[in-house]
Amino acid sequence: SAQILDGKQLAAALREEIRRDVEELRAKRGIVPGLAVLLVGDDPASQSYVRGKQKASTEVGIHSVVERLPADLSEQTLLERIDHYNEDPSIHGILVQLPLPPQIAEDRVITRISPGKDVDGFHPWNVGRLYSGGEGFVPCTPAGILEMIRRNRIEIAGAHAVVVGRSGIVGKPVAQLLLRENATVTICHSKTKDLGFYTKQADILVAAVGRPGLITADMIKPGAVVIDVGINRVDGRLVGDVDFEAVKERAGWITPVPGGVGPMTITMLLYNTLWSAKRMGNVQ
Ligand code: NAD
Repeated sequence: SAQILDGKQLAAALREEIRRDVEELRAKRGIVPGLAVLLVGDDPASQSYVRGKQKASTEVGIHSVVERLPADLSEQTLLERIDHYNEDPSIHGILVQLPLPPQIAEDRVITRISPGKDVDGFHPWNVGRLYSGGEGFVPCTPAGILEMIRRNRIEIAGAHAVVVGRSGIVGKPVAQLLLRENATVTICHSKTKDLGFYTKQADILVAAVGRPGLITADMIKPGAVVIDVGINRVDGRLVGDVDFEAVKERAGWITPVPGGVGPMTITMLLYNTLWSAKRMGNVQ
């Protein structure tokens, strides 16, 4: 039976490291990392994500500002709020919780955030950096996945990594990160014919689709590392995209849902905010 990639435990350890770093930055340099979160409207899932981010920030000593804005807000007003935080020297990270209401164009909002404060890594400048190399913010979920693989000393170089899903938030950036670490990468998506043909060849399989039970045991290479990014609610329970009970009998490593990738995502947001504060303060 597979070893569990315990995201909850790793996230707790990383948050403790971040907390100590934040404290040192404050004590030695007088810098307190600041995160601004803009939440438009009252979508319950978004509200819960934002509460989670605020709580996690506070726990590690990051100063977090949550601005709750009405659902009928104009795009112009939101852009002005972003400008405000772009110019605020106490803020090192800006995040606009997605999705946005229909009257607001997501791409105009994302490109308005200063690339140097774009802790979600969605600004085209940071997306470009991920592909071309060099410093930049890496999106939190893909960064968390890589951290989980690395900290468990799983070899990426030379492995065949198969990523199922090609979104800009998870699939594409995680594929790019794995490529950067010298994996051979295959990206599958909704138009892929015979998905199992590819997944069966994966030494590292990342499922980021949002379909419960999509990845079954017969689609797994024995001993593979299986990373389940999916979050699906089935009968009031959270499940991933992987048929966990069956696949864990065949895989070498597997992430549970919940308690796998999820806790790592917010942790990387804290990490990105700390990194941003250090960079702006010219701290090595
Ligand atoms: P998305 O809807 O933007 O993208 C889904 C991708 O899956 C698409 O690229 C599509 O081509 C592909 N796809 C759809 N059906 C397929 C099929 N039958 N076979 C192969 N590929 C198929 O979703 P997303 O934002 O990338 O999120 C994916 C999942 O991950 C969702 O369940 C989401 O809730 C979850 N998620 C989790 C975290 C986390 O922190 N754990 C973060 C982000 C997203």
